[in-house]
Amino acid sequence: EAARAPFAKHKWQAAPLLAGKVKPQEPQPVQNPADPADQPGSVAMASPHDVETALANAAPWDASPAERGEVLNKVADLYEENFGEIFAILCREAGKSIPDAVAELREAVDFLRYYAANAPAAGPVGTFTCISPWNFPLAIFTGQIAAALAAGNAVLSKPAEQTPIIAHLAVGLMHKAGVPATAVQLLPGMGDVGAALTSDARVGGVAFTGSTETAMKIRTAMAKNMAPGAPLIAETGGMNAMIVDSTALPEQAVQAIVESAFQSAGQRCSALRCLYVQDDIADSFIEMLTGAMDALNVGLPWNLSTDCGPVIDEEARSGIADHIQTARAEGRLMHELMTPNAGTYVAPTLIRVNGIGDMTREIFGPVLHLATFSSDELDQVINAINATGYGLTFGLMTRIDDRVQHVTEAVHAGNIYVNRNQIGAIVGSQPFGGEGLSGTGPKAGGPHYLTRFSAAPAPQ
Ligand code: ADP
Repeated sequence: EAARAPFAKHKWQAAPLLAGKVKPQEPQPVQNPADPADQPGSVAMASPHDVETALANAAPWDASPAERGEVLNKVADLYEENFGEIFAILCREAGKSIPDAVAELREAVDFLRYYAANAPAAGPVGTFTCISPWNFPLAIFTGQIAAALAAGNAVLSKPAEQTPIIAHLAVGLMHKAGVPATAVQLLPGMGDVGAALTSDARVGGVAFTGSTETAMKIRTAMAKNMAPGAPLIAETGGMNAMIVDSTALPEQAVQAIVESAFQSAGQRCSALRCLYVQDDIADSFIEMLTGAMDALNVGLPWNLSTDCGPVIDEEARSGIADHIQTARAEGRLMHELMTPNAGTYVAPTLIRVNGIGDMTREIFGPVLHLATFSSDELDQVINAINATGYGLTFGLMTRIDDRVQHVTEAVHAGNIYVNRNQIGAIVGSQPFGGEGLSGTGPKAGGPHYLTRFSAAPAPQ
């Protein structure tokens, strides 16, 4: 029998958390992506009536910056005290491995404490809509809300439809810590709830993380319905590349690549998608890389030995599987692992692309694309990376100092990693965010981020 999930018998409920009277829709089951037999709970989505109630009752947080900071620190304390339940939900609702769940909780706590310590004295924008994705259903969800609250805004939050339970728990803890019910309200729902919350004149600004397409829809809806200059803070997709030249240390590069491409089952905006390897080392390098892939454990998120868990749902799985099938049919599949037979798994996969710049679509899963380049093609690779229009993360593996300078200056990306894995940010010192199609800036967890949640000073 498969190891049982933590809190195996527990059923959680998620529903709107509003300052006024709630009229949610019929509860729907929430699915565990690793186990078709497990529904960790149910969610009652927000109704159109709930959206109206939330908008009508939203009120900026009337407290000093120091008081807001104190309460946000209390929220961080409550997150830490509830770590067991949080890990269990992240495993069962989002398919997070235990190490990924630990890292996610730490990041959420870091955001809370950083924004608490830097709560601005400037006035709030008013009401802020925060829309978050399922891939960091606690960290990104919390980061957006904490920044908006630190600045004193009223927050209307819509979590991703796949991960309402962790959002419900988190907002419950915010209320328990002392954030007023009118200052943070939760509206679980599908895209239509997000659309309603980003096209209303009563909303003063929007923080969004998700796909580039949705960000564009939100921009259009805001321009039509909201005050001119209402801020949109968007973090979106990436087509993240890494260049490995023939001077790179292969053991170091291979380990960094496996982590960057396959941790979190490749479901990070920052994950490595396209690897460029210099042709004179390619054969031995690929052999080493596929060997390292073979050592990955693909399995149940709550087993401590698991490196790579499931993807979020069947829609994600089948979309990625189609992409892999096309590559297989074209003879470009280089390596593929086995997966468990139940649950929405995608095997870590390595695919050859037809040539430099041949990859144009983000595949949000554990799929790495590889192209080789010759010594006189380095600038062509750089141009291809920039031509995607995205600019989130970029990695470089080389031992040539001049090359570090040349390449890192030439590639447009918000976060650049040299001779290390292409993962993560450090709240406070290495904020995270992209350029071009990858986001609007400023970077989350950095000093400029909070100012976007505050009203610009009135013109003299
Ligand atoms: P992903 O590919 O990560 O699911 P999406 O952009 O589809 O990216 O979703 C990110 C978030 O945006 C989710 O909470 C989703 O419900 C929400 N969303 C989807 N469509 C819209 C829309 N038209 N307006 C506002 N929010 C939306």
